[in-house]
Amino acid sequence: MRVEIVPCLKDNYAYLLVDETRRTAAIVDPSEEAPVTAAAAAHGLEITAIACTHHHWDHVGGIEDLLKRHPGIPVYGFVSDRGRIPGQTHFLEDGATLELAGATAAILHIPGHTLGAIAYHFAQDAAVFTGDTLFLSGCGRMFEGDPEMMSGSLARLARLPPDTRVYCGHEYTASNLRFARHLEPDEPAIAARIVEVEATRSAGGPTVPGRLSDELATNPFLRPQSKAIRRALGLSDAASVAEVFGAARKAKDDFKG
Ligand SMILES: [Zn+2]
Repeated sequence: MRVEIVPCLKDNYAYLLVDETRRTAAIVDPSEEAPVTAAAAAHGLEITAIACTHHHWDHVGGIEDLLKRHPGIPVYGFVSDRGRIPGQTHFLEDGATLELAGATAAILHIPGHTLGAIAYHFAQDAAVFTGDTLFLSGCGRMFEGDPEMMSGSLARLARLPPDTRVYCGHEYTASNLRFARHLEPDEPAIAARIVEVEATRSAGGPTVPGRLSDELATNPFLRPQSKAIRRALGLSDAASVAEVFGAARKAKDDFKG
């Protein structure tokens, strides 16, 4: 499965999942219609499905206009997002599998950013689409969940194979890494990644996809056992993963880096 990155709005990413045989594509998280249509046309692809990670407008805002161009195509989302995702036709449960762009995706329910957040995991293709739950070197805000729920969702993503490519919903990697360095100033993997990401961004490129192995090494929200993170947050080794997550998320919300 080939993936085409489609920058949308200010810093959002939609993704075209390409079925090379049929010259069709499924679109993940179309916040806008125009860039998606332009990307599909540029690659000679017909859009045949829409897959949403969650209901926020900057992930579903393009659906209605896409459905005008492609009436009747399926719109996938979590079962509890019924009424929140425009045009939704398929109401997915945790553990469901579906065919997208000739590949097989497993649905992982990963609540916390929203209660209906899901990831699309393509095990054969070593790729996962995480929406606003897991960002590169960071994570989304907890709009509808609590620390227990969100840290459990992140832990679930962290258990995927380390070579999995992570496609997330926003280009926040550079600022996320500044917070990661603030918590773990002596972590060489973070310093190295900052250099890499700065080079990518100054050349105008996207930092997605990342590798889960790099996330495990640099993402503070996937490193709740780190002694340096616990020290920086004023927590002891006895603090629970959810406590560490809650303190780290609060510190990120307040971080002016
Ligand atoms: Zn969101």
